[in-house]
Amino acid sequence: MKKIVLIFFATLLITNCGTSSKSNTTSIQMNEAKVVDPTKYASTITAGELREMLYKYASNEFEGRDTGAKGQKMAVDYLKAHYVSLGIPSPLGKDDYFQEVPLEKQSISKAKVFVNDESFQSFEDQIVLRSSGNVDMIANDVVYVGYGIHAENYSDYEGLDVRGKIVLARAGEPKDADGNYITTGSAEDTKWTNGRQSLSSKRDAALENGAKMLIYLDNELFSRYAPYFKRQFMLDAMGRLSLKSNNDDLTMLMINEKLGKTLHSSILEDEKPKEIKTNLKVAIENKSEQISSENVVAFIEGSDKPNEILVISAHLDHEGIKNGEIYNGADDDGSGTVAILEIAEAFREAEKAGHGPKRSILFLHVTGEEKGLLGSRYYTDNDPIFPLEDTVANLNIDMIGRTDPKRKEGDRNYVYLIGSDKLSTDLHNISEEVNKKYCNIELDYTFNDDNDPNRFYYRSDHYNFAKNNIPVIFYFNGTHDDYHRPSDTPDKIEYDLLENRARLVFYTAWEIANRANKPVVDKATE
Ligand SMILES: [Zn+2]
Repeated sequence: MKKIVLIFFATLLITNCGTSSKSNTTSIQMNEAKVVDPTKYASTITAGELREMLYKYASNEFEGRDTGAKGQKMAVDYLKAHYVSLGIPSPLGKDDYFQEVPLEKQSISKAKVFVNDESFQSFEDQIVLRSSGNVDMIANDVVYVGYGIHAENYSDYEGLDVRGKIVLARAGEPKDADGNYITTGSAEDTKWTNGRQSLSSKRDAALENGAKMLIYLDNELFSRYAPYFKRQFMLDAMGRLSLKSNNDDLTMLMINEKLGKTLHSSILEDEKPKEIKTNLKVAIENKSEQISSENVVAFIEGSDKPNEILVISAHLDHEGIKNGEIYNGADDDGSGTVAILEIAEAFREAEKAGHGPKRSILFLHVTGEEKGLLGSRYYTDNDPIFPLEDTVANLNIDMIGRTDPKRKEGDRNYVYLIGSDKLSTDLHNISEEVNKKYCNIELDYTFNDDNDPNRFYYRSDHYNFAKNNIPVIFYFNGTHDDYHRPSDTPDKIEYDLLENRARLVFYTAWEIANRANKPVVDKATE
């Protein structure tokens, strides 16, 4: 009871972001001839509407919005209906608000392998690193490609046609007469030399040369991987959900020395590529499951610089149902989702009044965040709807409806900002100025510290933009006792704070979309 009273008084002390007496001051778009006051549009973002939407979006009906599940489909339909009713179109064309994100649940497969009728067991002699569907094949020749290296100055594939064939390769990288590695002329390990990295380099080399199967001998890696693969197989563990790979055409087996020597008796000494006559049978039952999921996209085209894109994002998914309990994810990330819907409405109202944004704005609701930032990664890595080089910034919202109980000092009316100064000093300054002018929320940079052990900068969808040198701001309230628990429900959201934070994002977006110059990237990483 006491707690409730305290919150009640604290609530009274908050000035609503941008609708206070400041609304008559001039806009900070100093470079612009025509100054439009955004406060009128910001005031359409209200606690009441946010509450109404969130009680629906984070209700039990949506079953925790697990990626690919029924509840997530309901969520995307809800978002689409909202944009249709606002009259905000999709960039994908009429009525198509969904960017398909193909996913798969990989599980460990067992292979039956016979060489000249001798049988080699899964997890003892061979493991399946990946398979393209079910495999059932018999071959009379295998192309031995030595180390399987395919670099600019040295290639084991030179003069070989391995298209559609099975290639056999061994671990390691040869050295030149001076004892340096052949691909770099240096004594330091290269991406071909050993370990995981050489594995993926050699996989890419086999793919590039059109092989259909790579059989790879790495005794050391095999002895590390095989027990883990066996355990996972015994547990019948479904692997993590991942983006469906583009490398589907290649099947890859890792083998031990015993099997390697059976295929090619002098494999450990022989470095020369050659064709090997053998009788090889491989059968793999692939149990991976295909999952369909989607990002939701809506778009307001800029009036002056339509090709420059500001992305405002939040993830639409959450954890679903576990052990019979629904994880509603009201704060994570229902709060960011409904904030975007309100921000979109505010921009749409401005547009209707003849004050549409000068740059374009993409409202991006991404799927699969809880599974590893999959939807945002699909957007940036596989299918950016707009070129990344034309994307001027990403404002990402993930959890802005609660307060962090660990915050002992400072204002209740706060938000953590992460990333704002990492790529663009300009963006950071814009964000600060906008807040001072309209909102006066306490901007807390605790988690922006490079040494912060939580590493939040890497843990939400903005990171996929940041890694492409697109400046980002991540808006976040911190974790709390209900974080990733069934108790993250809409009744616990502090709607006045949610309103203020959503307005802050709106004002920041307004400034980025309308100012003369896009934020300068002065701290790009390579
Ligand atoms: Zn989240």
